[in-house]
Amino acid sequence: MLATHNPGKVREFAVLLKPFGITPVAAADLGLPEPVEDGDSFVANARIKAVAAATAAGRPALADDSGLVVDALGGAPGIHSARWAGPKKDFGAAMARVHRELGDVAKPAAHFTAALAVAWPDGHVEAFEGHVHGTLTWPPRGERGFGYDPMFIADGQTQTFGEMDPAAKHAISHRAAAFRQLADACL
Ligand code: IMP
Repeated sequence: MLATHNPGKVREFAVLLKPFGITPVAAADLGLPEPVEDGDSFVANARIKAVAAATAAGRPALADDSGLVVDALGGAPGIHSARWAGPKKDFGAAMARVHRELGDVAKPAAHFTAALAVAWPDGHVEAFEGHVHGTLTWPPRGERGFGYDPMFIADGQTQTFGEMDPAAKHAISHRAAAFRQLADACL
């Protein structure tokens, strides 16, 4: 089960889990409530979500906590990446805020971080963290992906994550890097 209510993440995890013959069920589809994410790190929040879902559903749960970390903003929005989009999940506004707060910083360095936690109903938890480094661009480009994808260009790429073919993004993404560690730990 995926301990997430974010359809963008559900899509990406379905792709990552397919080679393992796993079709995940989303916590939202099981009607599980979203726990309060009050951890002080990506890993802490992933653990909170995974444990809450595994305990409530009585089956193993995989949770992700991720976000955009901007060097010149002291790591913001970081674990508050989703919150910057507000209750309407308006990532156009969230990206505009990043752009506004950066002022005239040229080629701002940033990375996405993804923490993954797997929890079992008995309370056992394992966590992993992956990153993808790059720079931010303005205005945002591309209709693919989700969240801050249209303003992020990974190192070595010319397209934003919002313009890239989803398979190409998955090959280099922070989520894929964390997922590879998880898969290595299971095999
Ligand atoms: P949370 O992990 O559900 O708290 O939310 C993480 C937020 O970080 C998402 O809502 C996105 O705004 C952002 N984020 C995480 N991963 C990505 C990504 O791959 N692309 C774009 N934005 C992302």
